[in-house]
Amino acid sequence: MKSIEEILPLITVPKRVVIVPHQKPDADAMGASLALLHFLKQFGHTVNIISPTNWAGWINWMPGCREVIDYELQKEQAEKILGDAEWLFCLDFNALNRARNLGPKLEKLSCTKILVDHHREPDEKSFDYGISNPEKSSTCEIIYDLINATGYSDRMTKEIMDCLYAGVVADTGSFRFSSVTASVHSLVADLKQRGLEHMHVHNELFDNFLENRMRFIGHVLLNRMEVFYEYNTILLTVPKSDLLKYQIKTGDTEGLVNYPQSIRGIKLVAIVIDRDEERKWSFRSKGDFDCNTFARKYFEGGGHFNASGGRSSDSLEKTIQAFYVAMKENKSLLQ
Ligand code: 5GP
Ligand code: MN
Repeated sequence: MKSIEEILPLITVPKRVVIVPHQKPDADAMGASLALLHFLKQFGHTVNIISPTNWAGWINWMPGCREVIDYELQKEQAEKILGDAEWLFCLDFNALNRARNLGPKLEKLSCTKILVDHHREPDEKSFDYGISNPEKSSTCEIIYDLINATGYSDRMTKEIMDCLYAGVVADTGSFRFSSVTASVHSLVADLKQRGLEHMHVHNELFDNFLENRMRFIGHVLLNRMEVFYEYNTILLTVPKSDLLKYQIKTGDTEGLVNYPQSIRGIKLVAIVIDRDEERKWSFRSKGDFDCNTFARKYFEGGGHFNASGGRSSDSLEKTIQAFYVAMKENKSLLQ
């Protein structure tokens, strides 16, 4: 993978561009994709975003989100657009298997493939150009840097700023994670000077849910939380029956894993959600416990040092047992 800097001078030459975020795109993946789309369109590029799967309804406010193609629903149209693409951008993921069923299609494409990401251990051989920087708070921060590096920062529109800011806020836990550097705050200062209305974004991200989600969160924290003080670990288990009872949709479970982190001394929080197709894990840690390694080793996953995810094809019961074993094996690291 060559440096993305090498292709920045070509930004003014119109091309057919496809942008792909990771499956179940979150605010960072979707925000980065939309910001890049709005930026590139100003140079005459034809740009489409193809998401490998659907996404949370609360992301739909992002400008341009309604034109994003859901590969699972619009396969034919998506494949035609992909077949014509000259540039493919993969945003906020580090290996093509994070694009679910779209992954094998992307692999076969012969166009120029470009990675923009901040996860650990990128699969560099799958990409021609790219930037992968795990020191960065978010893919949105990297897109911001790239826009500046092109020399066209005057094209940072309100739409672009809303998308970028949303991704940065979401991926930094509202500016609290260790990934927050002085550069992140400089980015915010710059966006504010350019007219960013930050309260609007916070409102869309955090104050826009329905009652059922709040009741669901209360239920999970009260009835589905196990605390292992010996291991400084908390496990939240969400069976399918809860998802049905509270009418939980894609994205409604996001953020749940953060609540138990407010308990004193807790080092690792894990949540497992019994989805139809798989048991989906999320991990969050404080300090020196490496969630990326933990997710890779035990749950076919990965991510960042203090935030990662994984999966299991086993039953809920079995995958929970596997978690207990993994937690015990990591006792010394969790002390
Ligand atoms: P979340 O728990 O919010 O879904 O994900 C936390 C972080 O881990 C995100 O940066 C996400 O991209 C990454 N992640 C989540 N699930 C997986 C997975 O199954 N595999 C890998 N490699 N990364 C994941
Ligand atoms: Mn991200």
